[in-house]
Amino acid sequence: MKKHNFSAGPCILPQEVFEKAAQAVLNLDDSGLSILEISHRSEAFIAVMEEARALVLELMELDSKQYEVLFLQGGASMEFLRVPYNLLAKNQTAAYLETGNWASLAIAEARAFGTVAIVGSSKNHNYNYIPKDYAIPDDAAYFHCTSNNTIYGTQMHEFPATTIPVVCDMSSDIFSRVMDYSNFDLIYAGAQKNMGPAGVTLIVVKKDILGKTNRKIPNILNYEQHIAAKSMYNTPAVFPIYTSLLNLKWLKNKGGLAQMEKENQEKAALLYAEIDNNPLFEGTAKKEDRSLMNVTFVLKNNAQTEKFSEICNNKGISGIIGHRSVGGYRASIYNAMPVESVQILVDAMQELQVLYK
Ligand SMILES: *Cc1c(COP(=O)(O)O)cnc(C)c1O
Repeated sequence: MKKHNFSAGPCILPQEVFEKAAQAVLNLDDSGLSILEISHRSEAFIAVMEEARALVLELMELDSKQYEVLFLQGGASMEFLRVPYNLLAKNQTAAYLETGNWASLAIAEARAFGTVAIVGSSKNHNYNYIPKDYAIPDDAAYFHCTSNNTIYGTQMHEFPATTIPVVCDMSSDIFSRVMDYSNFDLIYAGAQKNMGPAGVTLIVVKKDILGKTNRKIPNILNYEQHIAAKSMYNTPAVFPIYTSLLNLKWLKNKGGLAQMEKENQEKAALLYAEIDNNPLFEGTAKKEDRSLMNVTFVLKNNAQTEKFSEICNNKGISGIIGHRSVGGYRASIYNAMPVESVQILVDAMQELQVLYK
C-alpha cells in the first residue's frame, strides 16, 4: 500500500512524476537510452536543462535579462558559504535574520568571509516565531533570511522593504506561493523539500549583484563561472534536474503558483483547525507565523504517544515524528501532498480524541 508521506525531506513528489521519472530511467523519450546514461552535453539533456532554467523564471515571473538560474550541487548547505564567498567582501557586513537552525548554520559560514550582524533572532524562544520590527543597516552587503523554517514550522509571511540585496533560503517553501520574486536578488533551495529529489540545488540570482567583492573565488564556487557555462561548468546532477523539471511541469499544468498556494492554504487550514480544536493537541509555532508547509504540534499528554503511533501506523501515515530539537510531531504538507492525505491525519487525531473522551 502506498503510504501517506509527511516526511520533511527528502519528501513526497506527485505519483505522476515518480512514474515518468521511472520510465525515463528505462528509456528516455523512446531514445533507446536511459536518462542515467546519456551525456550531459547531449542535445537531449541540454534541452532538459534549458527548459528547466526557463520554466523557473516563468513560474517566478522573473525577467531573463536580469536573472539567471543555476542547478548546482552541494545542497542548500553549500549556498550558506557560496553566498558570502560571492557577495561579502572582507571589510563588509552582511545582515542575517536568525529564525532557526539552518539560518544559524548560514551565519556561521558567513563569518569566515566578513562581518555578520544578526538583525533579529528568535533563538531565545526555540525559534517558535519570526522576529518583526528589526532594522537592516543600509550599508550591509546583503540581507539574508530563511522564508520557511522547516524544523520549527514557522514561515515569513512578509519580507522587509530594503534597498540592499535580499538573499533568501527558500528550501522548504520554494514554488509554494505567489510572491513578487523580483524583490529578491538571490534565492536558493535544496531541491529535496518541495521541488525534486535530493542532489541538486536551485539558485536564482540577479546578475548585477555579482562580481563586486574583489576576491579571487575558486571557479566551482563562483556563480559567474556557472552562469557563463549555462549551469554546465561540470557534470550537473542529471537525474535530479530531469525529475525537478517533471515536477515543475506538473505544477504549471495544475495552474501554477496561484493554484498551488490555494491548495496549500486549504491543506494547512484543515490541519491547523484540528490542532486548535482537538483538546489533546497543541501547535508549537506562534499562530501568526505558522508555516503552510511544515505543521508542528505536540500531544499534551505523553502517555498517549503510543496509541497515537498505533493509529497512524494503521492508516499508513509515515514521517510525522518531529525534529529532535522540537519534539512531538511535524507534518510536512508540501505541494505534492494531496488534501485527502491531510484528511487521513486529521481522522487519526480525531480517533485518538474519541478514545480519551
Ligand atoms: C533542509 C534545509 C537546508 C539544508 O539543505 P541541504 O540540501 O541538506 O544542504 C537548508 N535550509 C533549509 C530551510 C532547509 O529546510
